[in-house]
Amino acid sequence: MRLNNYIGGEWQAAEGTDTVEVVNPATNETLGVVPLSTGADVDKAVEAAKRAFPEWSNTAVPKRSRILFAYQQLLVEHWDELAELITKENGKSLKEAKGEVLRGIECVEFACGAPTLMMGEQLPDIATGLESGMYRYPLGVVAGITPFNFPMMVPCWMFPLAIACGNTFVMKPSERTPLLANRLAELLEEAGLPAGVMNIVHGAKDVVNGLLEHQDVKAVSFVGSQPVAELVYKKGTDHLKRVQALAGAKNHSIVLQDADLENAASQIIAAAYGSAGERCMACAVVAVEESIADEFVAKLKEAATTMVIGDGLEDDVFLGPVIRQSQKERAESYIEKGLQEGAELVQDGRGVTVPEQGYFIGPSLFDHVTPEMSIWKDEIFAPVLSVVRVADLDAAIQLANTSSFANGACLFTGSGKAVAQFRDTIDAGMLGVNIGVPAPMAFFPFSGYKDSFYGDLHANGKDGVNFYTRKKMITTRWV
Ligand code: NAD
Repeated sequence: MRLNNYIGGEWQAAEGTDTVEVVNPATNETLGVVPLSTGADVDKAVEAAKRAFPEWSNTAVPKRSRILFAYQQLLVEHWDELAELITKENGKSLKEAKGEVLRGIECVEFACGAPTLMMGEQLPDIATGLESGMYRYPLGVVAGITPFNFPMMVPCWMFPLAIACGNTFVMKPSERTPLLANRLAELLEEAGLPAGVMNIVHGAKDVVNGLLEHQDVKAVSFVGSQPVAELVYKKGTDHLKRVQALAGAKNHSIVLQDADLENAASQIIAAAYGSAGERCMACAVVAVEESIADEFVAKLKEAATTMVIGDGLEDDVFLGPVIRQSQKERAESYIEKGLQEGAELVQDGRGVTVPEQGYFIGPSLFDHVTPEMSIWKDEIFAPVLSVVRVADLDAAIQLANTSSFANGACLFTGSGKAVAQFRDTIDAGMLGVNIGVPAPMAFFPFSGYKDSFYGDLHANGKDGVNFYTRKKMITTRWV
């Protein structure tokens, strides 16, 4: 099945003739064929979005919200079907896929609050006889470019709030997981969204460049790897657009000797190996106080050796495949590098045997990792976890802060004093205490700093509302 673009409320074949196969990473089965659309396809979609903008932006805000309320209902009704599609095209377990659908639904629920979120501010007496007010308006056509690892949640960080704020939208889903995007658009249409408000153009680089260069695209939300995020931010701002570019990560956890070690181990196992490590909030490095390091590494190893690996659609499977053979080979090459650089490979995920034909790699665990090693520095984006041994909290924070990334960080401890120090001095945007994946919910901002984010306003929450609206100030004298 060749996927179509969704433009102006119609499903259209892309003008681009090149295609890429979409495969189920657990079985190697072909799920469809995605077109690599061209600049001409982008022009058509932006034109349709531009045409829809005057009427949509003038639609009463509660009316826009009502469509999103209907959409929320449809997403709830189709929860299982959406989750199954995520597992098929992405590989994560069905349980995690169901959780992802919930995260997407929460974004829609947040966007339903547009009548409150879009409110401005007034001050009646800024001077004698003078009043001032701030009003919010949408920007126009907004674009979203998304990664493969969250086919539902990441698009839902973008289009529900953007359209609730009165913008029209063009989305370029990941070419590796494009199927769910079309289903999201079908359900939007069923919820009553007018034609042209949401558009989808499938493809890769050419579509991204077309959106970044198009003068009618006013803002771009991007989520993906660091090099592409940097490129998108530079090119988008060069074309005078508002850009938020959420990038890669190398998230650090710290385990102190006063932590509940059972909880810390199970949280870190889930954070490091869940979704096959393909999460921007995955735990990639865990710094453990020397006094408990042997005990803690033993707990991690035990959990890693008993993990159920296989097709995420099967019951009890915890660890699914990585997205493609190339990603599997990349992860294996990092395991080899870790060994060459002198780390101790406590658990080797290479060569794991699974009945399915997909891109499987078992959980890998390194101990005695040091910050000079590439396995400490680079985002591997696979089920590979590195343990560093540290003297104390000061040393752990100092070490984590030398990372070029600053997305998430977690601390496992029973000490309030340690939590305060961690909160105030760790360099990351999303912190967790005694939890492994501190992903904020839709009503808070989501993102980090340094090489994990380019821009100003983060995704979601009030930051999202500010990103998708522009403000006007009016100062009035009546007497
Ligand atoms: P990716 O950068 O390969 O792709 C992201 C998007 O950019 C896709 O739509 C892709 O088609 C497009 N793209 C790829 N190469 C391009 C190029 N040269 N020019 C223009 N466009 C290009 O990312 P991915 O592999 O799909 O996703 C995984 C990455 O996303 C990881 O690095 C992960 O940390 C990151 N991520 C970050 C967050 C966050 O919140 N910071 C969330 C999810 C994923």
